[in-house]
Amino acid sequence: MAPDSVPLRYRGRFAPSPTGPLHLGSLIAAVGSFADARHQGGAWLLRIEDVDQQRCLPGADLAILKTLEAFGLWWDEAVSYQSQRSGQYEAALERLRQDQLTYPCACTRREIAANGRQGPEGPIYAGNCRAGLPPGRAARSLRLRVDCGDLSVVDIIHGPNTQNLAAEVGDVVMRRADGFFAYQLAVVVDDAEQGITRVVRGADLLGSTPRQIYLQRCLGLPQPEYAHLPLLLGDDGRKLSKSLAAAPVDPADPLPSLLRVWQLLGQAPLADASANVAEFWQQAIPRWDLARVPVGPLTINSDESR
Ligand code: GLU
Repeated sequence: MAPDSVPLRYRGRFAPSPTGPLHLGSLIAAVGSFADARHQGGAWLLRIEDVDQQRCLPGADLAILKTLEAFGLWWDEAVSYQSQRSGQYEAALERLRQDQLTYPCACTRREIAANGRQGPEGPIYAGNCRAGLPPGRAARSLRLRVDCGDLSVVDIIHGPNTQNLAAEVGDVVMRRADGFFAYQLAVVVDDAEQGITRVVRGADLLGSTPRQIYLQRCLGLPQPEYAHLPLLLGDDGRKLSKSLAAAPVDPADPLPSLLRVWQLLGQAPLADASANVAEFWQQAIPRWDLARVPVGPLTINSDESR
C-alpha cells in the first residue's frame, strides 16, 4: 500500500475547560469520546483548554484529572495545556498574517452589537475594519477574513450541516481584545498538532465546526471527522452547565454516573452488573456503538444530575 493510503490510527481527545469540576454533561463528552476511541483501538488524549485564563478556576484541572481517573477514563500521552502553547498559536497567526488572511479590528463589543446583524450566537461582525483601521482608532483584536459562503460538514451523529460562513458567522476573532488567543484558533491548531482523527464532543460546538474547518483549510491542516454528542439539558430546559442541575459528578461513587451516561448515550445495557469501573469498561468498550447515540437533546431533572 502506498504510504498515503495507509489508514491513520484513530486518535481522539477530550478537551475540558478547567472552569469547574466535571458534571454529568461534561462526563457525557468524556465517556463518549473515550468509548469511541477505545472501541476502535485508538488513542485518547487529554487537553486542558485553559487558553481563556480569565475563566479558569485554579486547581480545576487537577480535579478534572482525578475525576477522570476515578471514572476509569485513562488517557494516552502527556496532558496538553493550552496555556503552554502560545508559541504554536502565534506561529499559526503569523502564517495567516503572511497570507493576508487576518486584519486588526478596533471595534468594541458595543459597536459590533450596534452595527452587526443578529446571528444565532450573537451579533455578526459587519466588517467595519476589513479595509483598514478607521483613522485615529487602535487595534483591539485580530480577525480572520472569512471569504467563504456555504461550508458543509457531515457530522457522524447529526448528518449534513451546512453553514454560510460569511452570512451566518462573519470574520472570526483569532486574538481577543484582552490579548488571549481565541478558542477557535487554539482548538484547530491543537487538534492538528495532536493528530486528532475524530473529534467527539458536545453538540454546543456543532455550530463552530464549519468555521473550524475553514480555519483548517486556511492553515493547510487536515480535517478530522466530527461526532457531536447530545447536549444534556436541566429540567429548566437550559444547558446543564448553566443550570442549577450542574452539580459535580462524585469521583467517590463513579459507577452510578457511568451507568446513567451509558444509558443516556443510547447504549445497549451491559450483560452483567459491574462491581467496579474496570469491570464496567471491560464490558462497555466492546459494546460501544456510535450509531446508537441519540441526536438529543437529553433532559434530566435536577436531583438526578449527580
Ligand atoms: N473546551 C471546550 C469545553 O469544555 C470543548 C472544546 C472542544 O471539544 O472542541 O466545552
